[in-house]
Amino acid sequence: MKRFTLIIMTAALLFAGCGSSGESTAGGQSAAEPTDFSYAPVTVTTGTTESAATDEVSLEDLAIDPPYSFNPDEMLPSDFGDYFKTQYNSVTSTYKLLAGDRYESEVTMIKSPVDGPSVYVIAGIHGDEEAAWQAGKLLKKISIKAGTLYIIAPANKYGAVSLSRLIDSKDPNRVWPGDKNGNGAEKVAASIFADVKEKSPDFVFDLHEARIISDDRDFLGSSLIYTTLDVFPDDLFMDIIDDAQNGIICNHKLNSYSPGPAGSVNRTITEKLGIPTFTVETFRGYQMEDRIHDQLDIVNWVLKFYGLE
Ligand SMILES: [Zn+2]
Repeated sequence: MKRFTLIIMTAALLFAGCGSSGESTAGGQSAAEPTDFSYAPVTVTTGTTESAATDEVSLEDLAIDPPYSFNPDEMLPSDFGDYFKTQYNSVTSTYKLLAGDRYESEVTMIKSPVDGPSVYVIAGIHGDEEAAWQAGKLLKKISIKAGTLYIIAPANKYGAVSLSRLIDSKDPNRVWPGDKNGNGAEKVAASIFADVKEKSPDFVFDLHEARIISDDRDFLGSSLIYTTLDVFPDDLFMDIIDDAQNGIICNHKLNSYSPGPAGSVNRTITEKLGIPTFTVETFRGYQMEDRIHDQLDIVNWVLKFYGLE
C-alpha cells in the first residue's frame, strides 16, 4: 500500500512555511534574510522534466522571491509548460462573491457542454504567495473538455495588491469556515466556504507558496498538504507524489504533510464537506517561472485525473 510509504510530519506544519504565525509582510522580505543573495537557476521545462539543478543549491541560502521580468497577464499557461494546449468549446463566465462589499471577489466558471466532474481552485488566500494566484489567473484562460472548473484568483485580492498574507491584520487561512458578520478575513473565508459548499465540487485546490522560517529553520519547501487520505479516490494523493518524485511532473520533488492547520481552507473543507482537498506549496526561493510551472503542472495532473483535461 502506497499510503504506508508516506512519511507524515505533522509537527512541522505548526511552524513551517506559509503556515507560520502571521508577520505582516510587504514585498515578502524579512529582516533576517541573508544580504548576500543567491538565486536558484530556472529549471522550467516544456517537455521531459529534467532533474532540477537546484538540488545542488543550499535551499536555506536562497533569497525569497527572486525578481522576475515577464508579465504573466500577457501570457498563457502553455507558455510555462507542456500543458493546456488543446482548445475545447467550454464557456467561461464570472460571478461575484460579496457583491458590492469592500471584500467583493470574483469567481471564474469554465463550463463544458459535456457533463463531468467539477474542480474548484482557491488560489492565493495568502496574498504574498504570488505564484499561487498567478497560476490561478492563468488557469482562467484555459478551456476544458468536460465538467466544470471554478477559479478564485487571487482569493485574497487585497493581500495580492500589497503582497500581504493578511486581511485586516488577520490570517484568512486560520479563520475558516469564517463568519459573514466578522472581520475582513472572516467575511472572505465565509463567502468562499459558502460558494464551495453550494457548488459541491469533486475536488478542491488550495494554492499556496512556502518560505523558509529563519529563526528555527523549519522548512516546508515544495509540498502537498492533506488532512486525511480517506477522502481521495484511488491512490490519487500518493500517485501524484510518486510522479513528482520520479520526475514525471514538476521540476521539484514534493514533500507531503498532514493535517492542514485548524481553521485552514484544507482542513475545514475536508472535515466539514468531505471533499478531497489538497494544498499546493511551491518554494519561494525558486524562480517565479519555475514556481508557476509546478503549480500548473499539479493542477493539470488532477484535471486529467478527473477528465477535465
Ligand atoms: Zn499560504
